[in-house]
Amino acid sequence: MSTANALIDTYRQDRPQSVDLLQRARAALGGTVGHDLRHFNPVPLYIKRGDKGRKWDVDGHEYIDFLLGNGALLLGHAHPAIVEAIGAVLADGTHFGSDHPLHIEWAERVQALVPTAQRVRFVNSGTEATLLALRLARAFSGRSQVLRFDGHFHGWHDDVVTGFQPPFEAAGSLGAAHPKDRMVAIADGDLNQIEDAFKQNPDLGAAIIEPSGASWGRVPLAADFLQGLRDITARHQAVLIFDEVVTGFRFAPGGAQQLYKIDPDLSCFAKILTGGMPGGAVTGRADIMDLMNMSGDPQRDRFQRVTHLGTFNAAPPCAAAGIALLDLVGTGQPTAQADALATQLRAAWDKVLEQYGIAGYVYGASSTFHVYFETDPDRVQKASSRSDLHTLEAGRLKGMPGALIDAYQRHLRHRGVDIMSSTGGVLSSVHTEIDIAEATQAFEQTVVALRDEDLVITLG
Ligand code: PMP
Repeated sequence: MSTANALIDTYRQDRPQSVDLLQRARAALGGTVGHDLRHFNPVPLYIKRGDKGRKWDVDGHEYIDFLLGNGALLLGHAHPAIVEAIGAVLADGTHFGSDHPLHIEWAERVQALVPTAQRVRFVNSGTEATLLALRLARAFSGRSQVLRFDGHFHGWHDDVVTGFQPPFEAAGSLGAAHPKDRMVAIADGDLNQIEDAFKQNPDLGAAIIEPSGASWGRVPLAADFLQGLRDITARHQAVLIFDEVVTGFRFAPGGAQQLYKIDPDLSCFAKILTGGMPGGAVTGRADIMDLMNMSGDPQRDRFQRVTHLGTFNAAPPCAAAGIALLDLVGTGQPTAQADALATQLRAAWDKVLEQYGIAGYVYGASSTFHVYFETDPDRVQKASSRSDLHTLEAGRLKGMPGALIDAYQRHLRHRGVDIMSSTGGVLSSVHTEIDIAEATQAFEQTVVALRDEDLVITLG
């Protein structure tokens, strides 16, 4: 048996309770798991408990957690301030279907941190946030098309599910309407192409982008690209939407827009916003957001308004958790701590690649990390050092072989480390130097195993 298959067997044998749950899940759950990224061979993770930067599965295995609720848990699992805030409201009712004081307070906290949040509208997820932002942008511009960039992820609704995974032009999902007439898709990086897109498509009235670069920075943006995009969209009176679902309250207390000093017209938030509870928000310019206002004029209110509903928008436990979270983020401490830990982790993991001469490098902004393994023998042969391998090409950074990523994730989990997606993850403010040291050891063993399985290449 190959060593790779031996690991699959060992991994399965170590997890009898998980295997039982998978058996039941096959008969109970549509698609077997609750989110496409939770599929895992031979058995998904079934988590029972989390505390700070760690979590435990049903079979008692402990993991250093760099998934952190898909990036939602900047303060780690079960932070006392969040748990207390949620507990304090539960006995008074979990949901009214009416507005309530905490709803307004939560919006004010967002306004205090996000420079462009003249108004805030809460939704229940990042997907709902981009759905509403695109509707607002189309309504405000009076133009039906929105510019999107290949590889950028904006949730799973029909307009955006196409274009985040290669091949970018192919329909993103069976059953989804192909958004050919509603979205204009191009590669990021070249400002001239954006100018051309506006010239060629008179019905283009907005642009949406992950300000970190595609997939929370797996494909970093070229310097000055965001500013160029801001300038061009402003010139064409197009609405610029920052999808800050991952970067919001992480890249800086006021998100990537604060870190990079660029003002979008609308922004989408979710994840960290609600302190680990479900939630999301669209924020932005009052003249755009006020399209949702009621005027009392029946004609205008029925035909000249943006409609938005949602049973659970800003439910009390979500608002309470969000307020507690934003109070802490507002101190600047969580961002600073998570950033410092991520800097340490990136340096330590990159040193491992250097030590073994692996063709690859570790990168990432703020409290994120990504690992790129170069698997193109031509590029490796031409490189005189690892720095020659750096690239901004989406096709490369998002195109690492599936078998490599699969094995990498399995080796790490087997050694007690869980990551977010592909090869990367996020740090929290409550990870520790011990977490970094142990994760680095697991990474080193993983890299050696991948080299021995010929999944990664060495230089020279
Ligand atoms: N936008 C971005 C940039 C995201 O990373 C995600 C989630 N990974 C979403 C939108 C969708 O958010 P949700 O999963 O809450 O629907």
